[in-house]
Amino acid sequence: MIIVMRVGSSDKEIAGVVARIESAGLKAHLSQGVERTIIGVVGQIYPELRDRFEMLPGVDEVILVSKPYKLSSREFHPLDTIVKVGGVTIGGKEIVVMAGPCAVETEQQLLETAKAVKAAGATILRGGAFKPSTSPYHFRGLGEPGLELLAQVRREVGLPIITEVMSPVEVELVASYTDVLQVGARNMQNFSLLVEVGKSGKPVMLKRGFSATVEEWLLAAEYILAQGNDQLMLCERGIRTFETYTRNTLDISAIPVIEKVSHLPIIADPSHGTGKWYLVIPMALAAVAAGADGIMVEVHPHPDAALKDGAQSLTFENFQMLMSQLKPVAEAMGRCLASPS
Ligand code: PEP
Ligand code: MN
Repeated sequence: MIIVMRVGSSDKEIAGVVARIESAGLKAHLSQGVERTIIGVVGQIYPELRDRFEMLPGVDEVILVSKPYKLSSREFHPLDTIVKVGGVTIGGKEIVVMAGPCAVETEQQLLETAKAVKAAGATILRGGAFKPSTSPYHFRGLGEPGLELLAQVRREVGLPIITEVMSPVEVELVASYTDVLQVGARNMQNFSLLVEVGKSGKPVMLKRGFSATVEEWLLAAEYILAQGNDQLMLCERGIRTFETYTRNTLDISAIPVIEKVSHLPIIADPSHGTGKWYLVIPMALAAVAAGADGIMVEVHPHPDAALKDGAQSLTFENFQMLMSQLKPVAEAMGRCLASPS
């Protein structure tokens, strides 16, 4: 249920409504716009509540939301959410580019890549230290030493970092190093992890599970938002289909769908979305043309020697080419590429 307050309603009226919500055993989430306040109500809602709340002083309208997700819906928060990472803003006019290796391997690999992607215009460095791996026999990341390398390279190169956290018990550790916590596709419905990243106070990027519908994805987002963390962005990274020429099928249509139904920024990951380096540039351009707020791309100094995801990683040269092709597409969409700070 969403309670729309009258334009110019007083703090006392808003507090009165919140108190009534809480005394009914429900939770209130405030969205304070320039003109009016919207209150999202979550919990066991029954239709009679609508009439009761509509009678309270300062209330303009009460809307029973038909969609199961609420805090992530545009009905609750009509304006776009802006996520702030260091000096970078995501979800506004600027298109953010997050780039780096799939996995942190060595200091040299990470440092070289960070310098190259920054020089080409990336504004956030990506790199996995805790890697989800389908097979337990494959490289599963350096763990905490990988986080240390990320933090060291951030200092040397001056790019904020994003890295994955896989377990609720590791949230505190990973959050102590990173600027953005990434929840991977395999963990989209790890509900205890979602609650912990929600409590962390850090910006979060929630990847779409490869078998998840948009609704399931937004319900997963709801777990994070319900903890009071509104610094959340979504990432479309491809879904599993019958097609075998690509690793996943990047669901470009999910981008305008999210933009329509949710206020959360939407990022596209054409690397995992295709699994093939030569499809990364065309799909990155398509994602931005479809309205994505940014892209996440895997880049490696020597993709043929990468410990993980080499086949979908761009060389430095190809990454530069991507950036030069992305600029006019962003501009055609009335946007611009975020510039490195
Ligand atoms: C990654 O970004 O390195 C990753 C493992 O992605 P996903 O969770 O989308 O597979
Ligand atoms: Mn990867």
